[in-house]
Formats: sequence, C-alpha cells, structure tokens
Amino acid sequence: MARIAVIGAGMGAMAAAARLAVAGHRVVVYERGDTFGGALGAVQRAGFTFDTGPGLLGLPAVYRDLLVKTGKEPLEESVELTQVEPAVRHVFADGTDVRLANASRAAVAHALDEALGAGAGERWAAFLNRAREAWDRSRRPLLEEPLWPNWQVLADRDPYPAPVVRRGLLRRRAATTVAEIAEWELGDDPRLRAVLEHHALAAGLDPRSTPASAAVLPYVAQTFGTWAVRGGVRALARAVYERCQARKVEFRFGAAVTRIVEKDGRAAGVETADGTVEEADLVVAGVAPEVLDALLPGRLARTAGDVPARSGLPSRLTLLLALRGPRPEGTAHRTVVHTADRTAELDALFGTGASPSAPAPGDRPGAPVSPTVTVLRPADPSLVPDTGHEAVTVTATVPAGAEITDADVERVLARVERAIEGLRDRLLWHEVRTPADVAEATGAAGGAVPPPALAAAAGRLLHPSNTTRLPGLFTVGGWSHPGGGLPHAGMSGALVAGLIVEGPEFRGSQ
Ligand SMILES: Cc1cc2nc3c(=O)[nH]c(=O)nc-3n(C[C@H](O)[C@H](O)[C@H](O)COP(=O)(O)OP(=O)(O)OC[C@H]3O[C@@H](n4cnc5c(N)ncnc54)[C@H](O)[C@@H]3O)c2cc1C
Repeated sequence: MARIAVIGAGMGAMAAAARLAVAGHRVVVYERGDTFGGALGAVQRAGFTFDTGPGLLGLPAVYRDLLVKTGKEPLEESVELTQVEPAVRHVFADGTDVRLANASRAAVAHALDEALGAGAGERWAAFLNRAREAWDRSRRPLLEEPLWPNWQVLADRDPYPAPVVRRGLLRRRAATTVAEIAEWELGDDPRLRAVLEHHALAAGLDPRSTPASAAVLPYVAQTFGTWAVRGGVRALARAVYERCQARKVEFRFGAAVTRIVEKDGRAAGVETADGTVEEADLVVAGVAPEVLDALLPGRLARTAGDVPARSGLPSRLTLLLALRGPRPEGTAHRTVVHTADRTAELDALFGTGASPSAPAPGDRPGAPVSPTVTVLRPADPSLVPDTGHEAVTVTATVPAGAEITDADVERVLARVERAIEGLRDRLLWHEVRTPADVAEATGAAGGAVPPPALAAAAGRLLHPSNTTRLPGLFTVGGWSHPGGGLPHAGMSGALVAGLIVEGPEFRGSQ
C-alpha cells in the first residue's frame, strides 16, 4: 500500500483518487478551496440552482466505468441521467432555426434537409461517416492509452479521411482544418458550416486552425448523445466525491499545496500553505501547468522532448438567469445562437485575421461584440423554486483574462433574446460568472479552459503525458493527457490509476 497525495479535487483528480483507493492505496486529496469538483461549481439562490461549469454531460460511459470499477453500483443509482431531446436547437443569424435530435442520424439528416434545403442532410451524413473513421482510428491511441512516448506519430498524421476536392482551376486539395471541411465538404450554406464550426468554438478552439481531426467532436456528440444530470452536473461531482469517501479517500479542504517535496530525486510529499509537510510515496497533481511549475521550485515537471503544456486558450463567460414564468412546453434544453459575424468573433477570440473588431496589439482582451452563445434551459424541477419559474444558463467563449463589462453582458443578453421570447420581461435577476471566477474555481491563469486532445497539427493539440520527469509525480485532469472536458478528465483518472497500479507498461484497460 502506497501513500498517495493528490493535489486538487477536480474531476480528474477525484476519478484517479477513487480508483487508487480501491486498489488499496491510502489516498489524501489536498484542495485549496472549500469544496470538491473544481470547474463543476453551482450557484444556489432564492430557490434557483445553476451549474457554473459544464451544463450537460457527453460520453457518460466514462463515469459509468468509474462508478462500476470503484463500487459496483451503476452511475444511474447515484445520479439521474436523461438524454436531452432535441440534442440542440440552432438559431442562425438569418433567423432560421433547426432542432437536431439526440443520437439519431436519420432524424438529424431529415431536420437539416427541412430547415436548410435538400442535400444538407446528406452532406452532413457523409461528413459524419468520415468523422467516424477519424474516431475509430484515433480513439484508442489518443484517449484510452497513456500518451505514447513516440507521440509524434499521433501528431504527424490527421486521422480524418478528407476527400480530395477541386479548388480553383487546377488545384486539388483535401481539407486540413475544421473550417476547410466546413467550406469544402459541407457546401455553400454558411448555416451548415456554422453547425460544424460551433463544435470547435464551444471547446475553445479556432475552427480556422483546428485540424480536421476535430471532426470527432460532432461525431461523439451525435453518436453517444448528450445527457442532462438531475440537479445539475454538479450532482455528478458530488457522486464521485461520495464514492471517494466511501472508498476512504481523505479530503483536506482549505489546504493549498505550495510545494511538492522531493527526496532522493523522487516526489516524496506535499507542503501546504500553513507550512505542514505531509510525506507520500507518490504525488498526483490535478492542476493547471503554471500551478504545477510553481510547486516545483527550480525545476520543471516537463522536459524538452515532452508535449508542451497548452497555452493561450480561451475562457468562458457564463450568465445565470432567473426567469419568472414557466418553461414553455417543448423548449429545447440547449440552443446555440450563432454569431452574425463569424470572422469578427474568431478574430476577437483568437487574434488573427484583419477584422476591424479584432483587438489591437496591447489591448485588454474583451468579449466578442457578437458572440455565439449557448443557452441551456433544463426541464428539471429541482433547479427552480416552483413550476412558475425557469433557471437558464448562458455560456460564451471569451479570451482568458477578459474583463467583462456591463456592455458585454448586455450584448450577450441581446443574443439570448433570439432564443427566449420575452426575455427582458421575464428576467427576475441575473448573475455573471467571468473568467476571473473560473480562475478562482480552478486555479488556471485567466480562467483558461483546456480543450480535449486532438491528433495531427504537429502535436499542437496534444497535452503532456500523465507521467513527468520527476519520478513518483503524475499529472491528471484537463491539462494533461487526454485533455480537457468532463469525459476526458475522467479518462485521465483511469490512465493515472493504471500507470500507478500496473506500472509504466500499462497500455489502457479496455
Ligand atoms: C465555465 C466552464 C464550462 C465548461 N464547459 C464544459 C462542457 O460543456 N463540456 C465539457 O466536457 N467540459 C466543460 N468544461 C471543462 C471541464 O469542466 C473540465 O475540463 C473538467 O471538469 C476537468 O477538470 P480538472 O480535473 O482538470 O480539474 P479543475 O476543474 O480544473 O479543478 C482543479 C482543482 O484544483 C484545485 N487547485 C488548484 N491549485 C491548487 C493547489 N495549489 N493546491 C490544492 N488545490 C489546488 C482547484 O481549487 C480546483 O478544485 C467547462 C469548464 C468551465 C470552467
């Protein structure tokens, strides 16, 4: 039995902690805040409850596996999951509106044909077939195994089988980015392109430079479905926390780790802000890279040959809206209101191109003028004081560190009006969660949110491996392999537990 110190009580860290405790280790989690879950926070006020992190769950199999492997009870006994129907409603700049069914390819193709014109559904279906190939090729090596030491293999080839298309008179090219797939394979309709590109944007990625391998994002969403958690996604964090407790994982809240102790060239414990040093045989860090580096004075956890930590990633702006009046029958759980100016939005977020609304060098980063917003309207009575009220959460991708002004909030509300009729009359009150609030919840600089790992792009979208150059120190959670997002953090927990329990030869459990 080893003593294992886990830094942070985010989802990746707790997933690792529960698995390691089941394997017979003595696990202590040190969390600088006063609660578990990291990004998976919640705000409760006047009978309303809102998630402040993800509002929906993808790939529930990851957490099903965690709960079965750490206690036999199925996930559904701890939290109530419902597939949302439709999966998403898109509202485009021209006012067109389409509802896409959850996990039904035929229904999605039919809805796209109806809303966007004949052929749209077929083009989308053909794209998804290719996306499935990308998923089949990259799923195991990229997500279900520890990062390969020769990770360059994943970095060099894009698993998306882009068809060669004619561009111009003589040139024949195959799409290499999400934007190129959208433009070259989905046809002329900017609305269908927006359906694809929003998957990248929602993950904090610029579709213009994100490799075609990101086709797996819509494939996974459409194939494995989108799930609501009764009581909010925070309830999933509670379930994992309670499972940790049931397996005798110890939690120390209000215990910021300030240093990873080294002894004989190995990680040998942690020091917390009050100066206490606690010895451990192994340390697992579930924190952002800059936090990790600060815990290892005078040395870095990574070497030149490793995948470098991701940087320059955007954050999220979240509005929590308390509405009077019932949630109308037939309301979509999730509505994406698309921007009226794609280029300006991408330029404002990612700082490339020459749009007039792009920030000048040296400007403070701000929210895009016309952001794409995701509006969540859960049909969950436990989130509202009574059936005469509605709890709505709105999210937009914004630059990390962005200072959010009242004008930014107004602009987001104006976008939300396109999804919710009579919004202003119904609005009782609202709360704003800024990138600074995300930073407070997770510790990541500027409130940056890590995206999932993707193949290709010379490894730019991979995350550092779960092992480090300091023997005995492992990393878990959204900032290490296989990257950010709720399912991915859970996968990282399984990988770290495998590497510790089975050793460096561990090659994934499925
Ligand atoms: C607003 C928002 C929206 C999101 N939307 C989605 C979505 O729609 N879909 C999706 O899949 N994912 C989404 N994510 C991402 C997802 O929530 C995370 O990737 C996932 O929860 C993984 O978190 P983690 O394990 O990396 O830990 P984190 O949530 O980053 O938590 C890290 C923990 O470490 C603690 N900590 C930091 N420093 C120290 C220290 N020195 N000592 C002790 N403790 C420390 C922090 O207090 C925190 O509790 C969203 C995130 C945010 C913030």
